[in-house]
Amino acid sequence: MKNRAERKPRDPKPEEWLASDLSQQYIADYKPYNFVDGEGVRCSLYVSGCKFACPGCYNKVAQNFHYGTPYTQELEDLIIEDLGADYCQGLTLLGGEPFLNTQVCLRLVKRLRQEYGHTKDVWSWTGYKWDELLIDSADKRELLSLIDILVDGRFELPKKDLTLQFRGSSNQRIIDVQRSLQSGDVVLWDKLLK
Ligand code: SF4
Repeated sequence: MKNRAERKPRDPKPEEWLASDLSQQYIADYKPYNFVDGEGVRCSLYVSGCKFACPGCYNKVAQNFHYGTPYTQELEDLIIEDLGADYCQGLTLLGGEPFLNTQVCLRLVKRLRQEYGHTKDVWSWTGYKWDELLIDSADKRELLSLIDILVDGRFELPKKDLTLQFRGSSNQRIIDVQRSLQSGDVVLWDKLLK
C-alpha cells in the first residue's frame, strides 16, 4: 500500500463528476466575518463533498457529501444579511468542493448579485484546475462566470508551502476570473505577493 506522500489526488475526466449526481446540498460550516479565506473580512460557506481525495486535505471530513447539515433558506437569508455589513468585503465558497455543489453555490451567488450587485466580491476555492473547469459541465462554467477570484488546483502534499498567500501548495494559483475569461489566458490576482 502506498504511503500518504506517494498517493496522488484523483484526476476526473471532463463531466465525470457532476453536482446533479453527487451533491446532497449539505453544508459543513458557515463562518461569518473571518480574515483568512481571502482578501478583507469575509463570510465563508463550506459546502460538503469532494472527490479529489488529496492526501493531506485540510478538511477531510468535508469530503463526505452527507457531512454537516442541509442548506436552508434560513441559512441563505442569514448569509445575505451578514454580507450587508459595511466592513464585509464579500463571500467565500470552499469546502469540500464548491463546483460539485453548484446547486447551492449558484443559488447563493445569484442572490448576492441580486442584493448587492458588485459591491461585494466572490472568492472560491476549487480542486479543479482552471483549464479543467473551462471544458466541464455547464453548471460549473456558469458558477465560474459569476466568481471574481478563484484559487485553483488540488492540494499537492509534496508541494506544500505554508508561506504562500491563501494556498496550501505551490501548484495552486490565485486567479482573477473575470480578466482571465476576457483575455482567454490565466491572469493572476494583481495583489499576489507570494
Ligand atoms: S480538493 Fe480540497 S477539499 Fe477536496 S480533497 Fe483536495 S484539499 Fe480536500
